[in-house]
Amino acid sequence: MDHRNPDTWTPEFAREIERVREYVATLHADLPRWGLVVWTAGNVSQRVRGEAEDGSQDLLVIKPSGVSYDDLSPEAMVVCDLDGNLVLGEGSPSSDTAAHAYVYRHMSEVGGVVHTHSTYATAWAARGEEIPCVLTMMGDEFGGPVPVGPFALIGDDSIGRGIVDTLRESRSPAVLMRNHGPFTIGRDARAAVKAAVMVEEVAKTVHVARAGGPLVSIEQHHIDSLYDRYQNVYGQH
Ligand SMILES: [Zn+2]
Repeated sequence: MDHRNPDTWTPEFAREIERVREYVATLHADLPRWGLVVWTAGNVSQRVRGEAEDGSQDLLVIKPSGVSYDDLSPEAMVVCDLDGNLVLGEGSPSSDTAAHAYVYRHMSEVGGVVHTHSTYATAWAARGEEIPCVLTMMGDEFGGPVPVGPFALIGDDSIGRGIVDTLRESRSPAVLMRNHGPFTIGRDARAAVKAAVMVEEVAKTVHVARAGGPLVSIEQHHIDSLYDRYQNVYGQH
């Protein structure tokens, strides 16, 4: 089976692709529901693992470019290889596909990527300012501040490289790309959507907090125990 040629897919692999297209279509509805996107901005993708250990046969499922959130059916989701080439689907993949693909190529543990221009998180990105870790929920979810990535323009690997270089140095699943907006990662697309919702929430709360007076920091050892408890104990049954 050549993963890049749908004609050679086994019935099992074809079913897995259909399942992920449905899943990714459903998750896109969460972006307008949580107020993270306007017009056609924003996108969710998920990795589909191929047989090769090194990930060279992996694919990704993402939203097509310029399509309204009202028209995001499972059939509308496009399938690409990790070089961003279209493998299956109508229309051109999201213009952010190269950035998503770069993350999947360089972070093998990542199974989902989300990008939005959500208002408060993007406002921190516009200032090039990291969100300081001043809430226990930030300790839980981000394990520290939400970092800022470099300024990068669409068209080559610079956005993807900026995301990967920044997140490798951080416990945060979210990066604020400078003058642009948040990119988030997760073990699957749902975890990346959750991180996109949470980064907007904390960006808003810390903004409102600072408007009322100076922020109070949390000691590093408390951040460490919040993160450790939440990541290793909470929610696992
Ligand atoms: Zn963008």
